[in-house]
This record gives sequence, structure tokens and C-alpha cells, in this order.
Amino acid sequence: MDFVSIIEKKKHRLELTAEEIRYFVKGAADGSIRDYQLAALLMAIRLNGMTDRETVDLTMSMAESGDMLDPDVGGVPVDKHSTGGVGDTTTLVLAPLVAACGGKVLKMSGRGLGHTGGTIDKMESIPGMRVTMPEDEFVRIVRDVGCCVVGQSAQLAPADKRLYALRDVTSTVDSVPLIASSILSKKFASGARAIVLDVKTGSGALMPTEEKSVALGQTMVRIGALAGRRITAVVSSMEEPLGSHVGNALEVKEAIDVLSMRCPEDAPLTRVSLYLGAHMLLLSGVCSDLEEARGRLRAKLRDGSGLEKLRQMIIRQGGDPRVCDDPSLLGRAPVVREVICPADGYLSGTDCMGLGYAAQHMGAGRASKEDVIDLRVGFVMNRRIGDRCSRGDSLCTLHAADENSALRAEKEILAALRFSDSPCPPAALIRCVVDKNGVHRIQRDEGY
Ligand code: URA
Ligand code: CA
Repeated sequence: MDFVSIIEKKKHRLELTAEEIRYFVKGAADGSIRDYQLAALLMAIRLNGMTDRETVDLTMSMAESGDMLDPDVGGVPVDKHSTGGVGDTTTLVLAPLVAACGGKVLKMSGRGLGHTGGTIDKMESIPGMRVTMPEDEFVRIVRDVGCCVVGQSAQLAPADKRLYALRDVTSTVDSVPLIASSILSKKFASGARAIVLDVKTGSGALMPTEEKSVALGQTMVRIGALAGRRITAVVSSMEEPLGSHVGNALEVKEAIDVLSMRCPEDAPLTRVSLYLGAHMLLLSGVCSDLEEARGRLRAKLRDGSGLEKLRQMIIRQGGDPRVCDDPSLLGRAPVVREVICPADGYLSGTDCMGLGYAAQHMGAGRASKEDVIDLRVGFVMNRRIGDRCSRGDSLCTLHAADENSALRAEKEILAALRFSDSPCPPAALIRCVVDKNGVHRIQRDEGY
């Protein structure tokens, strides 16, 4: 087959055949097609799009470019995936809670990317924690405990690894068919049969507008239906960090605080975690009603069974379970200090991507693949959008490696916060749900 003619076809908005897509994906995985030709096709796809049929073929070809797991975990393997956010620690809250309700959470997570954090990096702040293990051990832990979270093995969707790295440097990340096939190929290959997608929207999200986030959710739901997987997409706000804590050890501490009932039950991180978790119980058939599912999760939160599941998961993954009782064992950055509010007003908005980059610059994330991250650093937001702030209040507590990095972070964080003289509403958290029945908009008064 001639790759130039495949690029040519997509340049002219023609539909690629399944065979052409398989040839492209195989060439990406085995290195037989050069970077510049792959990049040209990626840009043609970014500009001219793909039909659902092409996107399904791309997704399945990418999934089948490596190992395909079909694990027996004693129930429907369920997974949750976020398109990427800041202070977005829902996995460590909901995986144990869903397991406590009888769900089987089989989760392969990623590392941080750009301004967003990654669960695998966060978990490494737990002393001793293993995030890679043989497949049979991973499956056994899911079967016994109900949840296990590991990194993606090199054998999982290798075509995506090459294509993702190219997209990152060719301005072709923000394409609905490319994002949908990238995310879903990895989920399909890992053996998940039921998948809840948390599609972020707002200033810290891959898709900044709600309209584009909904379109991404709709595409992924349709691809799931065509591929025989159950998928629900929830569109939720990334106008500001979801939890108050941003940074690896800090976010693990916050997840433990939530599961230990040290956070208010209506905190945004808890609300989104319970909502996504309820959809996981629904999709995997453990519960038949969303409200019943939310009630069960809340009961497992209150009686401490969620924290107990996290403890069991940490033990089985080789980590120190004492962090569940004493999060200070996660380590603490040497410089801790406050960012002070310069004037009276209300916090009216944030440049959430800017906040994510502030954490990355402190050392919580990587600017290039080779960077080593500092698990201790980051910050804790002390105000949310809509809150009143008086001059002299602490807006944020920095946890920095040294004074210089604290100074830089302070500047970047202040530059990422917007204030208003008049009161403004908090950001609406859960915007809509997309499933096989269509798009359901969530009203603020629905209590989520
Ligand atoms: N996350 C992925 O895994 N792939 C994308 O393309 C975007 C977000
Ligand atoms: Ca993430």
C-alpha cells in the first residue's frame, strides 16, 4: 500500500477504508512509516475529521496493536477515565468506594501530561507502592480486593504511544477522533467492559468549551456502542482545580482525607467522585438505579469501608498502609508558606491551566519526558470561585522545594486568579451526562 495516497485521500476529505487505517496503525506501531508521513496524516485528520466508522476502525486497530486483556475478575471489569485535569484525584476516592459496593475496578492509569496530573505519579508518593506488576497479579488483586490501579504496560496499545508523542509536538492533540481513539483503544485493550468517562470542560481542560466537550463525549459513547462496550460520559467543570490540593503527595493526602470523612461531604471532589462512582455501579450492573448507587457509595464513605478498601489495595500493591491513618508519612516539602490576597473582593475565575503549569514549574509535573518529579511539592487552594476574599487572607498554601520556586509559584498563581468587586456564583460542577439515550443536561438544583 502507498502511504502518500492515504494522506492524499484524507487531505481531500475522503473516507479511509478499514484496510488503509490498519496499514497506518501497523506502520505507527512497528516503525515502518516515518514520523513526517504520520504527522501529515495526523494533521489531515485533525483538520478534516473522521466518520464514526473510521474512528471505530482506528480505535480497534490501535487497541489490537498490542496485548488485549480479557480478564476474569469475578464481575464486569469497570473503569473510569478523565480527559485530564488539575487537582483531579477522583480515582483514588472512587476506586475503593466502588470496590466497597461490590464493583470490580480494573484501572490502568497514566502519568502526568502537560499541566495535568497523573494517578500513577500520585500513587508513587505512597512509600513502597508498586505501580507495575505481572498481569495475573493485577487481575488477582481486582478479583480479591475489588480494585487495583497500575500503570499502562509498554505492550498496551503501542501505536498510541508513538502517535501521542507525535501529536504532542505537531499541534494535533485537540481532535475528537484522535482523542477518542487514543483513550478508548487503551481502555478496550486493558479489558474494561464498562467505562465511565469524565470529560473535563473549562480553562483547565483539553476541550475548553462545553460544546466541544459534549461532542467528544457523544463520539466516545457512539464508538463504545459500535465496539460492544458500555460507555457513559460525564461532562464536568475544570474551571478551577477539582480538589483543593494540587501536587502528588498532596492529592493522595486529600483522597485519604475524603475517605476518612475529614472533608465536607459536599466538597466538589467528593461530589464528582460519588457521581462518577454511581455511574460505574450502574454501568457494571451492580446497581440498577443512580440514586440507589449514590446512596450505597455514601454509606461506604461514612462507615469507613472505602478507606479500608484503599488500605487493602495499598497492602497488595506493596505500599505502606499506615499512610491511611497518618498522611504525614507521604512526606512534606521543606518550604511551606501562604499566598496572601492583595485586595478585598470575590474570586470570580481562574486560569486553571495556568495553575496546573504553576504546579509543574514547582516540580510536581514534567516539562519533558526525562524530568524527575518532586512528589512533595504543590499547593493547596484556600478559596474557590465565588468565595469572598479579604485583603490579607491566605488564598493558597505553597509547598515548595525552595524559596525561589515558592516565589515563582506565588507570581504564577496570583496571575492565574481573577477577582471581582461584586459577588459571583460558584462554578457549576457537573454539566451533563451523555449515554446511549442522548445528552442529559444537569441543572444546578439537581443536587449533584
Ligand atoms: N488522553 C489520552 O490518553 N489521549 C488523548 O488523546 C487525550 C487525552
Ligand atoms: Ca488524570
